[in-house]
Amino acid sequence: MATLPLLSATPSTDWQHHGLCRATDAAVFFPPGHFEHKPEREAREAEAKAICSGCPVRITCLDWALATREPYGVWGGYSETERRQVLLGKRQAG
Ligand code: SF4
Repeated sequence: MATLPLLSATPSTDWQHHGLCRATDAAVFFPPGHFEHKPEREAREAEAKAICSGCPVRITCLDWALATREPYGVWGGYSETERRQVLLGKRQAG
């Protein structure tokens, strides 16, 4: 009888070791603890997205953030609002 491979209950995060954000202040990728005005948020997210654009694991990062419904921050070059729009689009298309 063949045995099935064990499946991990949580997706691997090994790819995170290769992310460019590891050498960057995490505050660029996540909202601060205080209210963030729109221009401040847009500037922060633009800085994060510029880093993501050159990241070798960007697609894997975005896939992971979408699959895990990551609620905060810029992942794979997408803000939380943009990821919600992607997920909403998939739900409406499917
Ligand atoms: S795509 Fe952006 S958030 Fe994801 S690992 Fe790379 S630098 Fe970090």
